[in-house]
Amino acid sequence: TTFADLGLSPELLQAVEEAGYTEPTPIQAEAIPAVLMMKDVLGIAQTGTGKTASFVLPMIDVLASGRRRALMPRSLILAPTRELAAQVAENFEKYGKNHDLTMALLIGGVQMGEQVKALNDGVDVLIATPGRLMDLFERGKIMLNACELVVIDEADRMLDMGFIPDIEFICDKLPEKRQTLLFSATMPPPIAKLAKKFLDNPKRIEV
Ligand code: AMP
Repeated sequence: TTFADLGLSPELLQAVEEAGYTEPTPIQAEAIPAVLMMKDVLGIAQTGTGKTASFVLPMIDVLASGRRRALMPRSLILAPTRELAAQVAENFEKYGKNHDLTMALLIGGVQMGEQVKALNDGVDVLIATPGRLMDLFERGKIMLNACELVVIDEADRMLDMGFIPDIEFICDKLPEKRQTLLFSATMPPPIAKLAKKFLDNPKRIEV
């Protein structure tokens, strides 16, 4: 399989080439076409497998082909830690530099002012840790009802960190009609249960 076989746009193929990737990793080869076909995905993959690009690349194409919603974020990526959220944001910027998609990185440990300003200006994508997202939501700074493309990354670490109730709270605020991608290195029963509740007939990919 080559990247060109996966259905990505020419702009994304160029970004992939500029990143120096010659061929897709196994999770990318399976996840990218599924995401582009608007399917839910349950990805069982460790870090280091190219998992981040497997959702960020097709998400950019899905968002770029959709219509911008004034002020309403259309997409949400949840990561367990500030560092992981920041890494996903870096990937988004790297692969999305030929698109005018806007994003806000919503993590703890930094002042809320800048984040609230970005939200007020309107962004396409929220990349967040559960704690800061909950905080901003409870202050009425975030609308989640237009987030039709959602990623829960490193779900098993979310579980270890006690974030499952937050994830459930957040998912309940999302629109019913949406595409959801969940990635986890392992699939302990609480994660399997979460996936069953929030994913709709997902493509299961295990690498
Ligand atoms: P991740 O599993 O998302 O943490 O990615 C691990 C590393 O693999 C990152 O440094 C990526 O830049 C790199 N990477 C992702 N996809 C590919 C690919 N298709 N070929 C080579 N390197 C890649």
